[in-house]
Amino acid sequence: MYREWIVKLTDRARFSTICLHAGQEPDPSTGAIITPIYQTSTYVQDELGKHKGFEYARTQNPTRLALERNLTAIEAGKTGFAFASGMAAIGAIATMLKSGDHVVVSDNTYGGTFRLFDKVLTRYQLSFSYVNTSDLSAVERAFTPATRMLFVETPTNPVMGITDLRAVADLAHRRDARLVVDNTFASPYNQRPIEFGADLVTHSTTKYLNGHSDSVGGIVVAVRDDDIEWLRFVQNAEGAILGPFDSWLVLRGTKTLTLRMQAHNANGLALAQFLSAHQKVEHVYYPGLPTHPHHELAKKQMRGFGGMLAFELGSLDKARTLLNSVRLHALAESLGGVETLISHPATMTHASVPADRRAALGITEGMVRISAGVEDIEDLREDLAQALDRV
Ligand SMILES: *Cc1c(COP(=O)(O)O)cnc(C)c1O
Repeated sequence: MYREWIVKLTDRARFSTICLHAGQEPDPSTGAIITPIYQTSTYVQDELGKHKGFEYARTQNPTRLALERNLTAIEAGKTGFAFASGMAAIGAIATMLKSGDHVVVSDNTYGGTFRLFDKVLTRYQLSFSYVNTSDLSAVERAFTPATRMLFVETPTNPVMGITDLRAVADLAHRRDARLVVDNTFASPYNQRPIEFGADLVTHSTTKYLNGHSDSVGGIVVAVRDDDIEWLRFVQNAEGAILGPFDSWLVLRGTKTLTLRMQAHNANGLALAQFLSAHQKVEHVYYPGLPTHPHHELAKKQMRGFGGMLAFELGSLDKARTLLNSVRLHALAESLGGVETLISHPATMTHASVPADRRAALGITEGMVRISAGVEDIEDLREDLAQALDRV
């Protein structure tokens, strides 16, 4: 029977089947195949001390629970917690630290993550070292006796550096630290960090998981029982939960994750190849190109190379001309939606990163970033070609 099969699904199903079905049994009261949006703040109890596992909607909501189970199965974890945004999810992870603790962070981490760590959490006697996590000896050197967490993004934004997940998991565990991976850029279709030893995986569901540019949210997937217990407590204690409608939107998004990621991967690669062959482009950053310095490692730990790429035009003027000349590419922050977006990291996504740090990370004024959508590739190529003609 369908219901029984769905309930036992996660042990035996394959990736796309999990995306479609995990966490989503037919609605018990009507049989609805789609988990309803349970837009309620409380639940009526049968009698004093007897309820159906739902008491108050900050603590439990069936739509959110379905999404948490769905994303947990997708990331091959044990339990997941959905938050109001990707930053709220990372904020919840940070509550696992105590004053005096030290964190090693990928130096090219998402600008909002850097801002949270550098401007907020340093006020609470937490310290952070930013290192190139592609360089294992640099990671090792950054560890101190107080290091409790290694926070990694791979590929990095926007220069697409790759970190060896298995190696950093081993390193963190030898030092009694947790490995946290922000897997937003790759998406779990392309990379599942828990399989390489990560303790916690986080996403901005705003990006590929929702995939339709119409919701902001975050998720943390955990494997260790002590982490799960703490995160459940903190999700309720701080209350930065994902609402039922957004939970429903992300559930709808993950049903097509495989189809979308295959299209994003194909368009990302095709655009990277087109741009590398163009004489006005000085450099292309995309892990799927054999010229990428970490291409072999990317092949080892990723199923596809994603829809994110960046390229260098040489000056702010040239970047501005391109960005003002594209028509189908939408000039916008964010990524991972079905529409192709184009942006200028130095003044948009990475504006909060100090200029000297930006320079050290290779984020120049002539750099342009693309989040390849799922449009027909010929239309994307033609649009870039006509814009590059004006540069
Ligand atoms: C967008 C993003 C975040 C933050 O997520 P929000 O949903 O915008 O709060 C964190 N990490 C990465 C890699 C992101 O791209």
